[in-house]
Amino acid sequence: MRKEELIENLKKIVGDQYVQTDPEDLYAYSYDATPGHSYMPDVVVSPGTTEEVSKIMKLANENRIPVYTRGSGTNLSAGTAPLKGGIVLLMLRFNKIIDVDLENLIAEVEAGVIVQDINDYIAQFGLIYPPDPGTVKTASLGGTIAENSGGLRGLKYGITKNYVQGLEVVLANGDILHTGGKNVKDVSGYDMTKLFTGSEGTLCIVTKAYLKLVPAPEAQKSMVAVFDTIEDAGRAVSGIIAAKIIPATLEILDNATIRTVEDFMHVGLPTDADAILLIEVDGHPVIVEDDAKKVLAVLKENNAREVTLARDAEHKQQLWTARRMALPCLAKLRPTTFVEDATVPRSKIPAFLNIIKKAAKEHNVTIGTFGHAGDGNMHPTIVCDLRDEEETKRVRAAMDDIFRGAVELGGTLSGEHGIGLGKLPWMELQHGKEGMEAMRAIKRALDPNLILNPGKLLGEC
Ligand SMILES: Cc1cc2nc3c(=O)[nH]c(=O)nc-3n(C[C@H](O)[C@H](O)[C@H](O)COP(=O)(O)OP(=O)(O)OC[C@H]3O[C@@H](n4cnc5c(N)ncnc54)[C@H](O)[C@@H]3O)c2cc1C
Repeated sequence: MRKEELIENLKKIVGDQYVQTDPEDLYAYSYDATPGHSYMPDVVVSPGTTEEVSKIMKLANENRIPVYTRGSGTNLSAGTAPLKGGIVLLMLRFNKIIDVDLENLIAEVEAGVIVQDINDYIAQFGLIYPPDPGTVKTASLGGTIAENSGGLRGLKYGITKNYVQGLEVVLANGDILHTGGKNVKDVSGYDMTKLFTGSEGTLCIVTKAYLKLVPAPEAQKSMVAVFDTIEDAGRAVSGIIAAKIIPATLEILDNATIRTVEDFMHVGLPTDADAILLIEVDGHPVIVEDDAKKVLAVLKENNAREVTLARDAEHKQQLWTARRMALPCLAKLRPTTFVEDATVPRSKIPAFLNIIKKAAKEHNVTIGTFGHAGDGNMHPTIVCDLRDEEETKRVRAAMDDIFRGAVELGGTLSGEHGIGLGKLPWMELQHGKEGMEAMRAIKRALDPNLILNPGKLLGEC
């Protein structure tokens, strides 16, 4: 189908005002938060109903036109970059919280709603929707479902897949499918909800989700622990878990990250510390007191130089803002920022931190490491200049050491950011030929013309 014909057909489906074709508009959707990937789409279309999505998919499928679904474009794996041109399908008009069912503690929410807006709305009922990526104020629900996003509360509360109980999706051929729903237990057939959650826009378009909600914790206690060696901080993380305490949040910042955040934010972080841990326990007030005491004891046993409890709500807010600003602050150091999210079993955190340190030294690159230490989910963040070819080669070599090291420790390439384009070269290392073929078979069955986010997650199918 000619481009002009495609555009006319799309206009007939959604209306002229929801089809963008000007080069400056197309350019805005040629990239996302991932450095080094920019590809021009032919057209950007913003459907407003599931039926419109279905019609667009029928048209694209019949004419074998690539479709790149996009929420807010904050992903860090080039997941929305329109590698092969074609259609960018922008989902932000799906912006309604349809229902909050207080008897079943389920919210019915459209895919384009911003995650923080869900939490702001359900706070009046004393409920929370726990998945909270660093981009909670900008990321769309559909994007977080497609990436199976985690966040700061993942350790105790789990990640997106633990809260998506049902989906409305559109398949590559335009079929509209409903999976799961309000039933807490449901083993009728394959668990398609779980399959679609984390499928990175390669198997379907999510239009609506049924989300499990949980009661907001009655009390919380936040603290910051300062360490002279990052190894001690790593051991303290394993120690807290071994003591059978599951904090809501257990985050680590290394020295490079502490100094950078303090430079920009001036919140009084100890710039001479090798690492700090930010910890929050929550729940019933009595249990919170008890857990906080136990955590304190483990921190001391593991040579924490100093532990400070958040004085009040404002201080607590300051600490968590400092953590959320880790990536934006590191990103200010150099023109290019690669933030990775290799993850290892928690007991292997000290070994993994050593691998990252060694990679930085051997390849002479700057790596700031922070992350969800309680999940074993680290964010080694390499700052560099992509225009410098020699430096970029060293960066790639450091990444290779980090990914291979994580897999050798029994870890994974990605704890939450997904594979997209960036981590494709290492997929077979983790999954083997058989694992890759099994995933490609699923892709070919649901999207035989390979039009949904082609080139991502599995490479060429
Ligand atoms: C500063 C910063 C901090 C971050 N912190 C975290 C963190 O703590 N934890 C974490 O997990 N992630 C984190 N991320 C990554 C990112 O924010 C998340 O992956 C986010 O969930 C993506 O949402 P989005 O709406 O921007 O999705 P997009 O970037 O638009 O899309 C992401 C993927 O989902 C697909 N997609 C989007 N909408 C749909 C849909 N409706 N149906 C099907 N597929 C769809 C796209 O094709 C793409 O593959 C961070 C990113 C940044 C920049």
